[in-house]
Amino acid sequence: MSDDLIKPSVYAPDGFVSEAAGAALGFAEAGVHTDLVQALAARGITKPFPIQSATLPLAIGGRDVLGRGQTGSGKTLAFGLAMLTQLASSRPRPGMPMALVLSPTRELAMQSAEVLTDFGHAVRVRTLLIAGGMGYDRQISALERGVHIVVATPGRLLDLVNRGSLDLSGVRITVLDEADQMADMGFLPDVRAILDSVRPGGQRMLFSATLDRGVDTIVDDYMNNPSVHAVDGGQASVAAMSHHLLVLNPGDKDAVVAQIGARTGKTIMFARSQLGAERIGEQLMAAGVPTGVLHGGKSQRVRNRTLQMFKDGGCNVLVATDVAARGIHVDDVSLVLQIDLPNNGKDYLHRAGRTARAGEAGAVVALTTTRQRARALTMLKRADVEVAAVYVTPMSDELVQVTGARLPSGRPWSAPVEREPAPAGRRRPPAGRGKGPRRTGGQRSRG
Ligand code: AMP
Repeated sequence: MSDDLIKPSVYAPDGFVSEAAGAALGFAEAGVHTDLVQALAARGITKPFPIQSATLPLAIGGRDVLGRGQTGSGKTLAFGLAMLTQLASSRPRPGMPMALVLSPTRELAMQSAEVLTDFGHAVRVRTLLIAGGMGYDRQISALERGVHIVVATPGRLLDLVNRGSLDLSGVRITVLDEADQMADMGFLPDVRAILDSVRPGGQRMLFSATLDRGVDTIVDDYMNNPSVHAVDGGQASVAAMSHHLLVLNPGDKDAVVAQIGARTGKTIMFARSQLGAERIGEQLMAAGVPTGVLHGGKSQRVRNRTLQMFKDGGCNVLVATDVAARGIHVDDVSLVLQIDLPNNGKDYLHRAGRTARAGEAGAVVALTTTRQRARALTMLKRADVEVAAVYVTPMSDELVQVTGARLPSGRPWSAPVEREPAPAGRRRPPAGRGKGPRRTGGQRSRG
């Protein structure tokens, strides 16, 4: 696999030119606030990733930034450190945040809010997460006390604006994170309404894997001579991603999936539908593979706990639908299994992007049947992914070699998350998170 998996032909329309990254700068040289540099060092982060050294000096100086590519490259800290440095020692007015991060999903919003809250302590910058399904009262009272940064999904943010609890006219830095997914989810009209309400002439940073489906017009209409950067060339390490297409007999599929699930190391498995994800999850658990299932049909509380269990190693397998898994970041996922191939190459690459993150190596394995092999190869070719098709059977040498498959124990496993919901009021927040959301539910979740 070449290191330009995400080719301009796939990921950027014509005319999308990347600016030279310039010499690699350290965090301090790039202009990051000294207290933040210390906080980074305390967490072992001493060297900026390429996207960070390229964008930080410009973003801290107030320039608009357009980052093309996926998560895993360090973009959260790229925009986060720029925001925190600019907002250090400022004072927000009640109900009037000074900066805004818009995210397509609650999961991504929570992750960004976590990072901003964590590093914000160093420069006394407060971040509030606003996402659907969480109680309004807590959000409104936090807003009244004054926060510097709001990280939000668009729907709930507009709700609070329309209720008069939130005034966006003081927002001078706006970040649109995973703008293409917001477009996919139908959020662009809300995003426009929000951009029309923030302070005119403020700074905008937009991150997106693609610039089609209306993201391009957002760039045209709302960004001012942005500095453009390819995010994927950095430590996202697509070079370290290997791709494999396993061709099998349909009758062997369940056994092969269970054997891949029993491998050592974290695996994310993608299924096309919520029902499919549930069915595969049940089969894996029955075969003795500790598994979490993540899709939009689950309550937010269960989704959070499942993701935390996967991050903490309580289970090594996460079975997910596309929407639920996009944008989530788990550090050491060494294999992505595409149980059902997606309809197009772009979704394939989004799924693939859950592995080989932050400099780690990772394998992307797709399953197909003899009958569908030709279709699968055509789709992968269009996505510029070169794979050799390999025939496998349960525990065959090829299967073991590519995936590290092992025989599952056969002793059924059940998830503590599903069986023992903690009583209300006595819930422990997930590890590493501060005052996380209590409960979330219905806001425009899909998949
Ligand atoms: P992101 O693309 O923002 O999802 O970041 C991907 C991962 O890289 C996260 O776990 C970050 O904590 C980590 N990361 C970001 N920047 C750096 C850096 N300069 N050095 C080491 N790790 C980093």
